[in-house]
Amino acid sequence: MMTDFCVLLDPGHGAVDPSGKYTTAPSKQFQHTRGTFHKGGWFFEGVFNRAITTRVSAKLRNLGIPHVVVAHEYLDTPLADRVETANWYFKQYKNTLYISTHSNASGVNARGFEVYTTPGKTKSDDVATLLWDNVKALLGSKITYRPDQSDSDPDREANFYVIKNTKMPAILIEHLFFDNFDDATLLMSDEIQDLFAEAQVRTCVEWMKVLGV
Ligand SMILES: [Zn+2]
Repeated sequence: MMTDFCVLLDPGHGAVDPSGKYTTAPSKQFQHTRGTFHKGGWFFEGVFNRAITTRVSAKLRNLGIPHVVVAHEYLDTPLADRVETANWYFKQYKNTLYISTHSNASGVNARGFEVYTTPGKTKSDDVATLLWDNVKALLGSKITYRPDQSDSDPDREANFYVIKNTKMPAILIEHLFFDNFDDATLLMSDEIQDLFAEAQVRTCVEWMKVLGV
């Protein structure tokens, strides 16, 4: 049992409760006019986010890499609670890494993959670059990419609550746009989901090498 590294996995928003109700705000879902998603034409972001995190968790378990999911199975755990959980583990382990999993919506039919860190150059930028490179290596031309061209690395920068308030290196991944039909169709694919999950796992393994743990 490794005790000097732990991954904190944050699947964004809430999912579907036992009564069949989506627990999160209307902006975190989209009704497509064709195709079948989580419930008819409805794509539920929080359900997708958990599909990825569940795959990452299983792969990390296979590798014996300690990890904790900081959100409820279907409830929309408040952001402050997610951060508090992560920061508690930060105190127990020598090294921790926070990965927040999302999918995007634009309202204007945008497409593509993005990864975010907080502004400025920190260890999070190094993690984001590892993730970016793993996604490119695994998914290649299957998806499109939205890098931030303004500085020397591909990640975008924003003070999202969970990456701003967690004390460890933290990235937030926007896996394509769920309100674009073609991106949403990709996000429902078993193969694409597995590749996105594998990219997170390879990033964890590579980051452990950087840390020397
Ligand atoms: Zn989201």
